[in-house]
Amino acid sequence: MSIVIPLYNEAQNLEKLLQELDIILNKEGIDKEFILIDDGSQDDTWMIIQQLANKGYPVKGLRFTRNFGKEAAIYAGLSKAEGNPVVVMDGDGQHPPSLIPQMLERWQKGSLIVEAFKKKRQPEPLWKRLCSELFYSLFRISTGLDLRTSTDFKLLDKKIVRAYLSLPERHRFFRGLIKWFGFPTEKVYFTPQSREKGFSSWSLKKLILFAWNSLVSFTIWPLRLLLLIGVTGILGSLILITQTLYYKLTGKALEGFSTIIILQLLLGSSILLGLGIVGEYVARVYEETKQRPIYVILEYFKSI
Ligand code: UDP
Ligand code: MG
Repeated sequence: MSIVIPLYNEAQNLEKLLQELDIILNKEGIDKEFILIDDGSQDDTWMIIQQLANKGYPVKGLRFTRNFGKEAAIYAGLSKAEGNPVVVMDGDGQHPPSLIPQMLERWQKGSLIVEAFKKKRQPEPLWKRLCSELFYSLFRISTGLDLRTSTDFKLLDKKIVRAYLSLPERHRFFRGLIKWFGFPTEKVYFTPQSREKGFSSWSLKKLILFAWNSLVSFTIWPLRLLLLIGVTGILGSLILITQTLYYKLTGKALEGFSTIIILQLLLGSSILLGLGIVGEYVARVYEETKQRPIYVILEYFKSI
C-alpha cells in the first residue's frame, strides 16, 4: 500500500501520524510505503521527513522548491506511488489512520474507490462555515456533484490512480475529479478531530481562490449565467423600447431621464462583469496551453 501525505508546515504532527499508521498497518500485515511531500514548508517538515526515513520508516520524500498547493502535492505523491491500493490523507491528524483497515477491507471485496466521509463538519468559525456552504451549494447546482461531506481522505485502486494521472489538465481538484470519474464508490464515515498542532493553512483569500478555481475548472455555468442575463436583458429592453416608442409617438418623449441613467449603469456594469468572467475562462485556456509542470522538485529520496 502507498500512503500519500501532502505536508505544509506539519513538523509537529508528522511523526505521531506515522507512528500510528505504522502500528495499524503492521497489525494488518500490510507492506507499505509512505510518500511524504513537503509542499514548500517554512518549518522543519523536511528535516523530520529525513529523520523518519533514517529511523527505518519506508519513506519516499519529495520536497517542492516552493509552496505549490495541496492539489499539486497530491498529484506529485500519486505519481510516485508504486503500491496498490493508494491512500491519500492529510498530515495534520484530522484523518484517523484507524479507518484504513475498514477501507482496505472494502477494496479487497472489489471496490475501486473507498471514500471517507465526514459525519459532521469539524467546529469552525461561522464565516468559514457559511463560505463553504455557499461553495458546495454552487458546486452542486452547477455540476450536479455533491461534495459537502466528501474529503480528500481516500483509498484508490491503482487503476484509478492511473486514470487520475492520465488526465491532461493542470488545474486539478482531486475530490471533484475522483467523483467526476463516476466509478462506483464505497463510503466509510468518520468524525473529524480538530487539528493536532499548528494552523490550518487556509486563509480567507486562499479559500476564495481555491473555491473559484475549482468551480471554473469544473463548470461553464458562470458563462451560461451570462447568457441568461443577456437574454433577460434583451426581453426587458423590448418592453422598454415599446414604451419609449409609444411616448415618442404620443409626444411625451422628454420623460425617462432616470431610466436612461439606470440602464446605462446596468448595461455598463453587466458588460464589464461579463468580460471579467469570460476573461477568467480565457485565462484558464492560457494556463492550460502553457503546459507548465504542476510542481517543481527540489529534492527526492527513497529509503526503501
Ligand atoms: N497542505 C499542503 N499544501 C498547502 C496547504 C495544505 O500540502 O498549501 C496540506 C496540509 O499540510 C495538510 C492538508 O494539506 O496535510 C490539509 O491542510 P489543512 O489542514 O491546512 O486544511 P483543512 O484541514 O483546514 O482543510
Ligand atoms: Mg486540516
